Amino acid sequence: MSMIGELIRSLFKKRATVLYPEERGKVHLPEGFRGKLEYYEDKCIGCSLCFQVCPSFAIEMVPEDKSRFPKNQTGRRPIFNIARCTYCGQCEDICPTKAIHLTNQFEVIALDKRDLMVK
Ligand code: SF4
Ligand code: SF4
Repeated sequence: MSMIGELIRSLFKKRATVLYPEERGKVHLPEGFRGKLEYYEDKCIGCSLCFQVCPSFAIEMVPEDKSRFPKNQTGRRPIFNIARCTYCGQCEDICPTKAIHLTNQFEVIALDKRDLMVK
């Protein structure tokens, strides 16, 4: 097809892109998309496996009040720094109690770095 033909055809084709953020509801996320993680501290046993597998050093283990979470045997729990996270999902995969879940939330914006900590 000539270039002019292709140009005319393109003028009447349906738009492939979406206007963002106006049409954010139309953004297609593929199956298995990995976005900002969620952490369920009541399920956490403090095993540190997530901390050990994180390739980007986004996880820090901090002291925890054991009386608050009886399941937590070690008295330590993770804090996740989303500014460092590469969304690899290894922490979710290795967690034995399903205390971590990577959601499909892709809008990870903050004016203050402290808002990028998941505790
Ligand atoms: S998803 Fe993020 S926090 Fe979890 S292991 Fe990967 S880089 Fe670390
Ligand atoms: S791997 Fe799971 S249970 Fe172990 S410390 Fe991390 S979040 Fe807690």
